[in-house]
Amino acid sequence: MPTESLALLNPATEELILDQPLATAADADAAIAKAAAALPGWRAMAPIDRIQLMRRFAESIAAHAEELAQMETANMGMPIGNSRWCANTAAEVIHYYAGCIDKHTGSTIPVAGGVTMTFHEPLGVVGVITPWNFPMLIATWKIGPALACGNTVVIKPSELTPLTTIRLGELALEAGFPEGVLNVIVGTGAEVGWRFVENPTVRKVGFTGSTAVGKRIMAGAADQVKRVTLELGGKSANIVFADADLEAAAASAPSAVFDNTGQDCCSRSRVLVQREAYDRFVELFIDASKGFTVGDPTASDTAMGPLVTAAHKAKVEGFLDGADVLWSGAAPGGAGWWMPCNIVAPGADSPLARDEIFGPVAAVIPFDDEADAIRIANDSVYGLSGSVWTRDANRAMRMARCVDTGTLSINSNSSVRFSTPFGGFKQSGLGRELSMAALDHYSELKTVFWAS
Ligand code: NAD
Repeated sequence: MPTESLALLNPATEELILDQPLATAADADAAIAKAAAALPGWRAMAPIDRIQLMRRFAESIAAHAEELAQMETANMGMPIGNSRWCANTAAEVIHYYAGCIDKHTGSTIPVAGGVTMTFHEPLGVVGVITPWNFPMLIATWKIGPALACGNTVVIKPSELTPLTTIRLGELALEAGFPEGVLNVIVGTGAEVGWRFVENPTVRKVGFTGSTAVGKRIMAGAADQVKRVTLELGGKSANIVFADADLEAAAASAPSAVFDNTGQDCCSRSRVLVQREAYDRFVELFIDASKGFTVGDPTASDTAMGPLVTAAHKAKVEGFLDGADVLWSGAAPGGAGWWMPCNIVAPGADSPLARDEIFGPVAAVIPFDDEADAIRIANDSVYGLSGSVWTRDANRAMRMARCVDTGTLSINSNSSVRFSTPFGGFKQSGLGRELSMAALDHYSELKTVFWAS
């Protein structure tokens, strides 16, 4: 039984939402055992039955989208418009993976003396660990493919923002999921999350979070050669050439970095601008940022809410000490962990230009030419997302091929679509999520030879 609890506070008001009980390592082992007991039934279920259950789960998420969105906004401060988008997209992700169940097929390969067949077998019990910045959405990115492949799941949301994940677990049961197929457990990373690494019944850890914790999980998993998918940090580049539609690039630059209060792994927090367009672009970027409303996250026209905790706000503000701030916007006073949007001009080696800040801080950095832009963009331990803005189609494609990043958009700042692969180069991660590609990370490929 949980022995400790954590006070969950609304980041916009600092009001107590509830005292969340925290599970222990023994509770984690019990949840893992439940998932193991449910595994034979789930993996043997006829595909059409599993498809129908997952569809019912997706329909239930869509039917409860408003409730889930309000919960997310209260728990982590996400503006309600974004929370609604997350809830509806979460439903679509589960629908997508319901549809994948009978399409993730093996192959037959003629060989000497018979035929060889390949099968995608479930891994077994999958442990999922998620962060606080997109709790509900990221949960579905992992439980969708894991369940579709016939695995059972124990998921540990961030202890700071567990509410929507707990609700997803309830909705799965209401949709008719057998007991033990999807288990939600709330506890700290050190106590509960680490059990997923240590307990040998867990065959894979699907992790999204910081690069520092991801490294620890990868090292810990090595002992059992446990599978891991790691979705980690980023410091993505938004590269604007002088020949681009500067107005369009500037209009989308604020949301590209300040969305979710900059607490977004895909945040394009390095804005690289070709030197001859630098001053004009900065002017346009500042003008566009003035329209990026910071305030009450329950209001539909709010673009940016508070930071998730007081401690995280203090960490983000620390980056601004002594910074060359080109512009800083307005933020509410009083209760809540508010910060304004900030546009800074850092030196090349400043932490502002190199570290993942995970807050509303955009670093605008000049470059000379294509080669210089590639050099700066790739001079990072990260490689998650990014954009190139130019009217030169050949340059756009050259840049797309040369930037070391998992996802790149041309003349757009969008990052994620559930039907396309998503993941990081370098220390931004290992493996891919979303799309059919994720299914390969939640199954083992088995080869069967049939002599004939
Ligand atoms: P975090 O690494 O502190 O925590 C993530 C999760 O890991 C939480 O559930 C936490 O309880 C758990 N955890 C912490 N220590 C653990 C341990 N020793 N063993 C097992 N589990 C442990 O990250 P965060 O602060 O919650 O989230 C922010 C980070 O997540 C940022 O770095 C961001 O870039 C990253 N992120 C990446 C993606 C992506 O898709 N690449 C998406 C969202 C967030």
